[in-house]
Amino acid sequence: MSDEELVERISGRLMCKCGASYHRTLNPPKKEGLCDICGSEVFQRADDKEEAVQNRLNVYKKQTQPLINYYAKQGILMTLDGTKDIDEVFEDIKAVLAKFA
Ligand SMILES: [Zn+2]
Repeated sequence: MSDEELVERISGRLMCKCGASYHRTLNPPKKEGLCDICGSEVFQRADDKEEAVQNRLNVYKKQTQPLINYYAKQGILMTLDGTKDIDEVFEDIKAVLAKFA
């Protein structure tokens, strides 16, 4: 998934205190700003704000991304297309995990 798509997805995320989650454009609550389940006001987590997401991406690139080469060299790196819809990505993850079961 591209950085732009990732920032769009994460910075659009909205949470409710009841645990429900939404997305401004991909999965908005039926009534703007209010949770479908409990009616409370939904909110954006501080670490989902665009600047915070950019910072999280930078930390990922420095600290986590180097692991990709490490696992690729061992021949055990599995990559998935995270831009597919939720159900497809879930099926892809299950298929990968089944190889190790
Ligand atoms: Zn709620």
